[in-house]
Amino acid sequence: MHTSNPSGEALEEPPASLFTNRLRDFLPAGRGFWHDVPDEDWNDWHWQLKHRITTVDQLRRLMPTLTPEEYAGAKLANHKLALAITPYFFNLIDAADEHCPIRWQVIPRVQETHTAAWEMADPCGEDAHSPVPGLVHRYPDRVLFLVTDRCASYCRYCTRSRLVSNASGYDFHPEFDRQIDYIERHPGVRDVLLSGGDPLLFSDEKLEVLLGRLRAIPHVEFLRIGTRIPVFLPQRVTPALCAMLRKYHPLFLSIHSNHPRELTVEVRDALGRLADAGIPLGNQSVLLRHVNDDPEVMKVHVQKLLRCRVKPYYLYQCDLISGSAHLRSSVRQGLRVMEQLRGYTTGYAVPQYVIDAPGGGGKIPVNPDYVLSRNSDRVVVRNYEGRVFEYPEAKDGTPLVKEPIPIEEPELV
Ligand code: SF4
Repeated sequence: MHTSNPSGEALEEPPASLFTNRLRDFLPAGRGFWHDVPDEDWNDWHWQLKHRITTVDQLRRLMPTLTPEEYAGAKLANHKLALAITPYFFNLIDAADEHCPIRWQVIPRVQETHTAAWEMADPCGEDAHSPVPGLVHRYPDRVLFLVTDRCASYCRYCTRSRLVSNASGYDFHPEFDRQIDYIERHPGVRDVLLSGGDPLLFSDEKLEVLLGRLRAIPHVEFLRIGTRIPVFLPQRVTPALCAMLRKYHPLFLSIHSNHPRELTVEVRDALGRLADAGIPLGNQSVLLRHVNDDPEVMKVHVQKLLRCRVKPYYLYQCDLISGSAHLRSSVRQGLRVMEQLRGYTTGYAVPQYVIDAPGGGGKIPVNPDYVLSRNSDRVVVRNYEGRVFEYPEAKDGTPLVKEPIPIEEPELV
């Protein structure tokens, strides 16, 4: 297929491989081992939670192809970050494929016990920015409100693994009254992000009480929920939940999906229900080795997200969480992935690649270098194909009214 660039030259679109073509389709997760479970149970989120795979014995029974690394990791998991996988999400694992990208995300490995000197239990320095337990106030106008330490399934690279699942004894007990009181006393806080753990694990009633209390604070303009529930447990996204959430607009929701195979028919439909409730949806992915640090896979993923009405929002460089080296990709590879998105697909599909600064500096954007040089009278930039362009500017920053002086300094370009 041919397209053209702004100057009219024909561009050859790289051929999509058979592999990525297959990833484009929305497929149902299927029932797998649970083929005889009635629909009524399977589609009930409480049933899914009750039947999660949480022990090494269950895992070995359902997946005899467990590798020695996985078996050893699963045996140790409950001392660090619990093992839990919903039956729905478990069905996305290809048990015959040791390199299955879903498998890498939720099956523990013994490498989780290997810790390097630069790895940390709290890589983003959240505890140091908590004025009251469960509230992180790092940026001037917004706070992170941690509501629970539970998730539907546990991601092996979780940046809050010190806290979620309580496997390492962090003993997280948010005190909503103290957290809300802090927000009330800080009129500069206009944006509250509910996260955890996963806020959508609360009942509709409990979540509504919390949203109602936050909405009643006059200076809180904007609410957000960070959740992986639509991906791990799409059954939770009921019409009743969506009807409740829509009462608290403006309310945004950030999901967390890393690989196109996670975007099943069930997930697409759950996201559709949320979008129909008027909730703007964004996605946060973590760049992970063995999962999504491949430009072709990432491109399919972001395009598929748009088809689910989800804007790819952030791509995170994996935090320096203890025991995550086997899953961390390099910044070099992250930039390579970004380089293959910008210009090659819809701008809406391109997330912002960020490093959450180790120790608590916040999110820092990382981009391929498109600005080649900049001085007082021009900026020299390159486009996604590597072609170089010049943008003239007046020295004092006022609008340019005279023709710019031609470049004389050869070092400028
Ligand atoms: S869903 Fe989020 S909080 Fe829970 S384990 Fe995964 S990354 Fe951590």
